[in-house]
Order: sequence, then structure tokens, then C-alpha cells
Amino acid sequence: MKEEVIVIGSGVGGLAAAIRLAKLGNKVTVYEKNEFIGGKVHTRDFSGYRYDMGPSVFTEPHLIEELIALGLDQKPFEYHALPESFRYFFPDGTSYTLPTGTEETIKVLVEEFDENPQRVRAYLNRLKRNYEVLKPVFIETTLHRFAHLFNKQLIPAILHIPRYGLLTTMNGFSNRFFKHPKSVQLMNRYATYNGSDPYKTPGLLSIIAHLELNEAIYFPKGGMVSITKGLAEAARSLGVVLHSNSPVESIEVTNGRVVGVRVNNTVVPASIVVSNADAHFTYEHLMPTVKRPTKILNQELSSSAVVFYWGINREFSNLGVHNMFFAKDYQAEFKAIFETKTLIDDPSIYVHISSKAEPSDAPPGCENWFVMVNAPVNIGQDWTALVAQLRKHVLNKLSASLGLDIEPFIVTEHVNDPLRLQHTYNGKGGSIYGNSSNSALAAFYRHPNHAPEVKGLYFAGVTVHPGGGIPLAVSGAKIIERMVRDDFPN
Ligand SMILES: Cc1cc2nc3c(=O)[nH]c(=O)nc-3n(C[C@H](O)[C@H](O)[C@H](O)COP(=O)(O)OP(=O)(O)OC[C@H]3O[C@@H](n4cnc5c(N)ncnc54)[C@H](O)[C@@H]3O)c2cc1C
Repeated sequence: MKEEVIVIGSGVGGLAAAIRLAKLGNKVTVYEKNEFIGGKVHTRDFSGYRYDMGPSVFTEPHLIEELIALGLDQKPFEYHALPESFRYFFPDGTSYTLPTGTEETIKVLVEEFDENPQRVRAYLNRLKRNYEVLKPVFIETTLHRFAHLFNKQLIPAILHIPRYGLLTTMNGFSNRFFKHPKSVQLMNRYATYNGSDPYKTPGLLSIIAHLELNEAIYFPKGGMVSITKGLAEAARSLGVVLHSNSPVESIEVTNGRVVGVRVNNTVVPASIVVSNADAHFTYEHLMPTVKRPTKILNQELSSSAVVFYWGINREFSNLGVHNMFFAKDYQAEFKAIFETKTLIDDPSIYVHISSKAEPSDAPPGCENWFVMVNAPVNIGQDWTALVAQLRKHVLNKLSASLGLDIEPFIVTEHVNDPLRLQHTYNGKGGSIYGNSSNSALAAFYRHPNHAPEVKGLYFAGVTVHPGGGIPLAVSGAKIIERMVRDDFPN
């Protein structure tokens, strides 16, 4: 097999596709619009404070290892499991540290919230089983080709349908197993891992928690950027050529077949194109004359975010690598994100401090705070005003929770908001995960990994099947590999 392949975008999904298609013997070139490779998984340094600009929660590291091993004999990628998952701070002043691992999680939920150990175990086992059954037929397989979907794992997955929690929301599903409102909130927050609302997303999505609670959160040596550095190195060793500062201007289509892309004002021929750019952007800007799958693309978008990157010139011993400060009214927060499309005064705040795991990420005695608040997508709000207001609320909330005024300790500051996210990555409205999963069947309405209207065009990344987050974005590349094998048998 020796096809000319072009990948548009160098996010984890694009790099994974490039590796897999190069490993098949194709000639692969990646064009990335930004000056850096890695998409949202990239790093910046502000006055000696290093930040991973996007993802921070890393699960299923074996998926990255598997990809890197396709290109490199030596292991350029190291990681370790963190001893705890999250530290949670509630508005009533209480705080709890959740461990990782089934037994440890049961112990804490029983001791802290008086939960029934059998019910907690039943919940965690249910998530594990749901995940195991769904993985081969949903996560690693396209739903859009019968020959792929009909495999021997499909029957158990179908028989298991009543147990997924499809007919209830994530909140309803959590309430079936937990009685304490705090445990319910802890389980509900996993809806945000794919930018959705726990009061609307189906209980099925609770499987996200399986990766963190039954398994672990991992930390890559050198930070999250080591993931994309490792993938890029593996890709190069397979002969993939990576071009940064190269926005693709259009996808060239002739007689329903992809023939190349226009980049730097020149048409570069290709028989296979993989778009790692947001599916909305791909249709609207790169091939506006191709018929859009409107039913899929008109669905509600996932959330976006406001992130403050604060260099803090002291250490906080009561904080860990991952910390969550919950809103008082969790439901109001999701109403604001998805209905009124604004920010509330008391949002949940995620504080990630990688220097707790990698001390060189901040100067001695200091910490690099990544402070994130989930936000609505950009529909033209005044983000300068909203972010200024939010900054005050975040400072007040964190100062009250931690018992001292935080602001004087901020020595460097950088901010990302939905508008900036939109411009940096071309994601529709700055949405982080494409469409939301705020309906029972939304997970089945993501764009497929191929373009039904254009032969030779495929899609990789969080805006398409199987969905959001690094593990799913890289799993999509496995699906593409199989489709390409079928579509280009020679
Ligand atoms: C603040 C934040 C926090 C997050 N936290 C987590 C987390 O903790 N864990 C997790 O798993 N996920 C998290 N995510 C989601 C995460 O970003 C994804 O899981 C993953 O990085 C997305 O990879 P991707 O390949 O789909 O897309 P992207 O990383 O968006 O890559 C797409 C690439 O395409 C490029 N591109 C777009 N248009 C063009 C064009 N015309 N020409 C050339 N290139 C183009 C873009 O510049 C970009 O580099 C977070 C995201 C954000 C923003």
C-alpha cells in the first residue's frame, strides 16, 4: 500500500492517524495551522512556570504506548500512576481526597459518606463491565459500516443494553447507587469530561468514571506534552513529514473523491485525506460545496472553558495535582453553560498543579496553577467583561476555601477563553469536544470517521466518533486504519 496521505491538524487524533497510516506503508504528510505540533496538548512557559495548555487528566496510557511502539523501539515516553485522583472542596468547607482503584474508592465513599459498600461495588463493577462490553463495538469500531459492526462482540453488547443506563440521566444513574448528595455530585462531574450536562447526558456516560476510579489517573514524565512529543517522534521515525504554520485552506474534491488539499496557496495531491480539524470547520470552511450532514452538525455543542494560567509564588500543602472546588448549585452551572450561555457567580473550579508531580514546572517554592471553569461556547458574548467578572469570583471562592487571599501570590498570568480557543484550534464556538452528549442517543449521532459523500476523506479527533478525551481521540485512528485497509485494498 503506497497512497499519498495528508492529515489536516496535529492533535492527538491526527498524530495517531498519521502513525497508523504510515505504518501501513503510506506516504503521510501532516499540515498544522499553528506554530506548534500537538493541538490542544501543547506546552508554554510563562516566566519559568511551565503549563500544559489543554488536557491534564490522563487515563489509558497504554493507548499512547501502543502508538509510539509502532514507530519507535525505544520507549521515549514514561509515566506513573498518581496516588490519588482528585481533592474535592465543597462550599460547606468540607474537603475529601478520592483515591484511585476499586477497593480504595469503596473504602473512602463508605467512610466519608456512609455509602453502602455493596452498592458502591455494584456501581464500580457496572461501569467496568459496561466499558469492557462497549469498547470493542463502540469505541474501537465504526457504527457506520455493517461489516465492521457485526462482529462476535456485538451480541454481548446488545444483550447488555438494559444495564448501560440509557434510559436515565447520569444524575439518575448515580442516584440509583449512592444516597449522599456529595457522592452523587462526585460521580456526576464525569459528564464534564466530554463537555456535557450530568442532568441530561445518559447514565451510559458514567463509564468515563471507570477509567479514573477503577483504574487510575496517570502523569506523563515531562507533563502532558510528552504525549504529543512522543507521538510526533514516532510519526517522524515512520517517515511522516510534519509541517507547522501550515493552515490547510481547502480540501480538493473531484467527482466525489478527494484529490488533495490546498495549503500555502498550492494544491498538494493526495488520495487519502484525514481531517483532524473540527468536523464543523471541515465542512463549513474546507469544503463548503460538499453536502453537510446537517442532522449531525446542527446538534448542541459541548462546553468550552475559561482557563487562567497563574504562576503562584508560594506552595499550598493542602492542594494536590488535581483539585475541584464545587459550585453550591451544580444544576444552575449547567443551565448557564447550555441554556443561558453565560457564566454564574459561583462556578465549579478545577485547579491543576503539575508542579506537585513535576517540581521543575515552577520555580522552587512556587506552583503553576491551571485554573479552569467550564463555560458556554462562544456565541458572541463579551468575553473580556465575562472573564474579568469571573476572575473576581474565582479569586473570592478560592481565597475563601483556602483561608487566605490568593491574588497577591499571582506573579504571572495568562488567560484562555472560548473565543481564543475557537481561533487557536478552529473548534466551532471554542467547543472542546464537538457536539455535547446531552441526549440519550447523542453518542450515536457523532460524525462518522469517514465522509459518506467524499471517497478517501476520513475524520479523526474529539469532534467525531467515538468522542471526546485523549483515549477516544486516539481510538478513532484505529477505526480509520481499518476503513482505509478496506477502501484501499491494494
Ligand atoms: C482546557 C482544556 C482542557 C482539557 N482537558 C482534558 C483532559 O483533562 N483530558 C482529556 O483527555 N482531554 C481534555 N481536553 C480535550 C482534549 O483537548 C482532547 O482530548 C484532545 O487533545 C483533542 O485532540 P484532537 O486530536 O481531537 O484535537 P485538537 O487537539 O484540537 O487538534 C486539532 C488540530 O487541528 C488543527 N487545525 C485546525 N484547522 C486546521 C487547518 N485548517 N489546517 C491545519 N491544521 C488545522 C488545530 O490547530 C489543532 O492543532 C481538554 C481540552 C481543553 C481545551
